[in-house]
Amino acid sequence: MSANSPIRSVISPGRYAQGPGAISRLGEYLAPIGRTPLVVADDAVWGFVGHDVTTSLKAAGLPVTREAFRGVPSAREIDRLVEVIRATKADVAVAVGGGSTIDAVKASGFLAGIRWVTVPTVASTDAPTSALAVVYTEDGAFEEYRFFPRNPDLVLVDSQIIANAPAAFLAAGVGDALATWLEARATAASSSLTMAGGLPTLTGTALARLSWDILWDNALPALDAVRDRLVTPALEKVIEANTLLSGLGFESGGLAAAHAIHNGLTAAPQTHGLAHGQKVNIGSLTQLVLEGAPTSDIRDFVEFTTRVGLPTTLTEVGLTVEDTEELELVAAAATVPGETIHAMPFDVRPADVVSALTSIERFSRRVREEAGLPAPEPYVAAH
Ligand SMILES: [Zn+2]
Repeated sequence: MSANSPIRSVISPGRYAQGPGAISRLGEYLAPIGRTPLVVADDAVWGFVGHDVTTSLKAAGLPVTREAFRGVPSAREIDRLVEVIRATKADVAVAVGGGSTIDAVKASGFLAGIRWVTVPTVASTDAPTSALAVVYTEDGAFEEYRFFPRNPDLVLVDSQIIANAPAAFLAAGVGDALATWLEARATAASSSLTMAGGLPTLTGTALARLSWDILWDNALPALDAVRDRLVTPALEKVIEANTLLSGLGFESGGLAAAHAIHNGLTAAPQTHGLAHGQKVNIGSLTQLVLEGAPTSDIRDFVEFTTRVGLPTTLTEVGLTVEDTEELELVAAAATVPGETIHAMPFDVRPADVVSALTSIERFSRRVREEAGLPAPEPYVAAH
């Protein structure tokens, strides 16, 4: 074996804390990490957590400095936050909000050479736990993954805050987390490298599988709980699956076709405005088709994720089967060299992606009709 042979690796955040009212413990957990935190949150998020964050930090003897996040985790926004970190002499960056805020803060904390922690206020992605950020262009197209030498020092999730957020966020997180097992399974089968920079560990792959099982059992009751703003055991399980299990599972288990197709979809402006997990669900379904998965598995996946409220047709992500040009653009972007689609245990060509993507429209419509589920509503991007 040469010195450069890939080795097995698993990486994780320093501490993960979850529960109702957890936000009141933020200062206590933060104090050993840094003495001059910079909290980054957009105005809407700060409106509902600002008071609790301030109270908690003050109780721990920490100063409270908040900077507004401006919407897109672009290279420009990241560089702006680096300047704010330097100007405020912060020693820890605290992301409070959704996946975009979190990715921008991780990237800026790394560039500024300080530590970073995440406080997700929605369970819509697995961004909070990972050591990477997804950077987008100013108009919201996928630009690049940025990798950091370590994960957040702390991930703190207040379950009541998640319960108070719209159910659509939790549903999107379920979409992101279901993909984790499909992609980890493919990565393990092909012995490809994971985002953690090594071969998949048994740990990463097993956590991805656990996330899948937890979600099939608990996603629907958890969504109902959120509709009533209730923290229930089912919701606690789904928050952990969406945030921690999926985060560890994708990072140390590996990404494959589903996320590459998500990244490809961002090349079509029609899909902008959809949540990450919504587009990932189209990616998962397309991956199952590419794999030649048993028809009953694909049918179950369509039925279940439709019930969760996730898109299972092109129509629901703003595309149609006639949009050949866009579908070719999506497939080209999904299969560029270096994309995780090449972790599949077989070669995937752009034409395969176009066929698979196109095929889900009729398949899914039929499954939904047979299951008595509503026909897809067309999605129209806001701008
Ligand atoms: Zn994801």
